[in-house]
Formats: sequence, structure tokens, C-alpha cells
Amino acid sequence: MPDANRQIVLDQLPQGRLLAEHFRLTESEPPRPGAGEALLRTRYISLDAANRAWMQGATYRSALNAGQVMAGGALAEVVEADSPDLKPGDLVFADTGWQDYAVLPAKRLSKLPNLQPATHLLSVYGVAGLTAYFGLLECGRPKAGETVVVSAAAGSVGSLVGQIAKIKGCRAVGIAGGEEKGRWLTGELGFDQAIDYKAGDFKKQIRELGGIDVYFDNVGGDVFEACLFAMNTFGRIACCGAVSQYDGTAPQHGPRGVPGLIVTKRLTLQGFIMSDFAEKNDQALADLQSWVASGQLKVQEDVIDGFENLPQALVGLLAGENRGKRMVKVS
Ligand code: NAP
Repeated sequence: MPDANRQIVLDQLPQGRLLAEHFRLTESEPPRPGAGEALLRTRYISLDAANRAWMQGATYRSALNAGQVMAGGALAEVVEADSPDLKPGDLVFADTGWQDYAVLPAKRLSKLPNLQPATHLLSVYGVAGLTAYFGLLECGRPKAGETVVVSAAAGSVGSLVGQIAKIKGCRAVGIAGGEEKGRWLTGELGFDQAIDYKAGDFKKQIRELGGIDVYFDNVGGDVFEACLFAMNTFGRIACCGAVSQYDGTAPQHGPRGVPGLIVTKRLTLQGFIMSDFAEKNDQALADLQSWVASGQLKVQEDVIDGFENLPQALVGLLAGENRGKRMVKVS
């Protein structure tokens, strides 16, 4: 049995930008599993923009409060389980929070396939891959030849969305911060064009695209507004997230003149959570695996070593430090 459990607690709820100082490292007795429960050891903790949104209030999960162990998903290893379906050494994806060990009801866990590298279970075969796949294909419904624009394009979801758009024969345009990310998108990942939303003329560049058929929105705010007004008739917008609104207080910017525009252009905006399409997960994973195997889909992971680096890793993600899926290796 382990003798200590490191935990990172959300010490204070941020009022403005999130800082590493809002967290505190502590240690407790390792939890002990009871009937029907599993003891898990976290291996890699997923860093997600939504981690910050959970501090703003209830979303698709309850709000985070000061004093709680920071919430988060992780790739975790079963240490022991009171379940016929799980054995020590099995890998699961679980809401462990930021700690070395967690106890969860075994019936909420499913054993993940044994594949290499295991980190792909958190990136392309995890939440990011399924979000990109379902958001684009089910909500965006792209057709060959159409223009697909995705924001936070160099992030974990966005980098996959643009590549899947290319696989489907579309023109892929990525919006990301900075020229270097743009060069990476068009060079390494095969996007047709990149737009730097931090450049003064980004709205002009979006207008000059010649019309957007599918916009995959990860950021909300000004970028959303600029893309909305550049939509083609019968365009589709997949509303995935709004990272520009997460790290601060109330939203300062928002789409203006929207309702009339949605009507005149007969746009479809569809919000979604990746689990809405869970019954199609097997097909999605089969497609993602075949695209990775054929080299059509490149997987970028940004792995940071060390449990104690979790707070700074999340602060850095919100500041745009990451390329692809960011995670912290714990054990
Ligand atoms: P990520 O894209 O890997 O990283 C976040 C990126 O957002 C940063 O790298 C940064 O890149 C960009 N960003 C930060 N502030 C921004 C701003 N003010 N304006 C524009 N871009 C900004 O993070 P992720 O966890 O994969 O999340 C991406 C989006 O997907 C989030 O909105 C998240 O909530 C959403 N999501 C939704 C679902 C679902 O089921 N609906 C599931 C998972 C994730 P730059 O350098 O480009 O600024």
C-alpha cells in the first residue's frame, strides 16, 4: 500500500487570471477502497482549458470551490478493485483529481485498450480526439471542397479538427496565436492557411477567406464574432468551447448583431459535449486509429514531467504555451 498521497488543492478561487499561487500542495493518507470501489494511481493528468471554466460556476459538472482537491481527468492504473472487470495494472480514464491516488466506484470505470504510446489514450483516443471527431463530423457536417475554419487550432482539439477536415477533402484554415504556431499548422500538419488572431488585421484576414462553410469554435469572443459574420449561407458552426471567456471575470466581448444574421444566413449553430455521441465511440476510435496508422493524422503531445508542475502547466495552457495535447506525467 502507498504511504502518502500528494494532492494539489485549489486554495483560492481566482478573481482575474489564474495563477500558480491559487493552488497549494498538500499530503494526506492514501484513500482505502471499500466494497464496489477501486483504488487508482494516477499516471498522466490531463490539462484542459475547461479546468479553468469549472472555477467560474456549474457547467456540465458542479462548480469547483476553494479548498477542494483540484478536479481533472487522468489516465490512471488500477491498484486494487472490488470488481470482476478490473484487475491491478489495468488502465482507465477517470476523474481522479490532481492527486496520486483516488478511490472511485468501480462500476464507473472501464478498462482501456492496451496500446502504445499509452499517452494517446489521453489525446487522440481520448476526450480531445472524440471531441474533434464528433464536433466536426456530426455538428459541422463538412463536405469535400468546403472551407473549414477552426480556432485554438494548435491546441489539442483544434490540431485534430483541421487534419480531419483535410482527410475529408476540405480546405482547412486554423486560427492560432503567433506566427510560429501558424507555420507549424501549415508546415507540419498540412493546414491550407493559418491566421494569427493576435495580429491587428485578423478580422480582415477572416473576411478575405471568401466565406466559411464550417466554423469549429473553441474560443468564443471576438474570433467567434469575426467568423460568424464571414459564414456562407447554410453554414454550420460547431460550438465546442469558449476559452477566451474562461480565464477572467465576466465576458467583456461578445457577438453583436447576431440574431438577425443567424436568420438571414440560415445558419446552424450546435453546441455539443463529446459524450452526446457516446454510442458512436467505437466507429470514431476505429477511424482515428486508421488515420493515425496511415500517417494522415499526426498526434502532437506536450508532456510535462512532475506532479508539482500541474498548476503552472494549467496557467501556461491558458496562455497558449502548448502545442497539441498537454498533460503532466505523475508516475
Ligand atoms: P487547448 O486547445 O489545447 O489549449 C487552449 C488554447 O486556447 C491555448 O493553447 C491558446 O492557444 C488558446 N487560447 C487561450 N486564450 C485564448 C483567447 N483569449 N483567444 C483565443 N485562443 C485562446 O485546450 P483544450 O483543453 O483542447 O480545449 C480547447 C477547447 O475545446 C476549449 O474551449 C474546451 O472547453 C473545448 N472542449 C470541449 C469539449 C466538448 O465536449 N464540448 C471537450 C473538450 C474540450 P493560442 O496560442 O492559439 O492562443
